[in-house]
Amino acid sequence: MNDPLRLALGDGRLPTIAAGVRPAANPQPDPPIMPTRPARRGASQARLQRENAHDDIYEKIYTAILEHRLHPGTKLVEERLAEIFDVSRARIREVLARLAHEQIVDLIPQRGAYVAKPTIEQARDVFEARRLIEPAVLRRLVDTLTPEKLTRLRQHQELEVDARRRDDKRAVIRLSGEFHSLAAELAGNSALARSMRELSVLTCLMIFLYDAPTTTSCRADEHSQIIDAIARRDAARAEKLMLEHLEHIESSMKLVGDMEEVDLAAIFKG
Ligand SMILES: [Zn+2]
Repeated sequence: MNDPLRLALGDGRLPTIAAGVRPAANPQPDPPIMPTRPARRGASQARLQRENAHDDIYEKIYTAILEHRLHPGTKLVEERLAEIFDVSRARIREVLARLAHEQIVDLIPQRGAYVAKPTIEQARDVFEARRLIEPAVLRRLVDTLTPEKLTRLRQHQELEVDARRRDDKRAVIRLSGEFHSLAAELAGNSALARSMRELSVLTCLMIFLYDAPTTTSCRADEHSQIIDAIARRDAARAEKLMLEHLEHIESSMKLVGDMEEVDLAAIFKG
């Protein structure tokens, strides 16, 4: 895949985009409607191309965060991103503003943009919101279920199974998060879908920050059990499985705040 951010960031081991990364040779994919790349400056075609690139750049940064190629706290240097994607800094600022609006990026005055680092308190808030939203999503999905929607869910599940088989951890994390967004999208309520998308990516950041090193997010078989319940139009069971699923994800994280008192006796005992 010709993903400029992936090419530029390599294995995601670089702490910031500014440090030692080179723009890809062909940083912007050719637009599908134009047979040749337009001249770099001037033409309205080039402008159109950049306009279209807005969502494209957003998606690339969003996916890189979802896949843990961009880590929480990474500085997103405007000039470097503008170079990498061959667009103006104003365009990059728009994308960063959108990501900031979704709480995926922190904009710090005089310092710049950073991939968000949700606190433990924010992480708990995210789970509380998910426990409220996701049962509602599944109820609506069961109510409006069509064979096409079920096929979409099954196809997504196959991608997840395949990624696990290949032990592609990035794809597993991304696809796990996207399963929840897809369910919300298929449920057909755009406000729920938008919220779910934001909560999914925040959960991915939280998993990176707080998860036990051995786990990678959603458990392997739980999505398929949820899909089976949806297929049987058993909303109550689907909701119950989802709440258990969220409980498993949350309990696999170490969401222990510093406000908890340290048991010194336990530490020094024996
Ligand atoms: Zn899941």
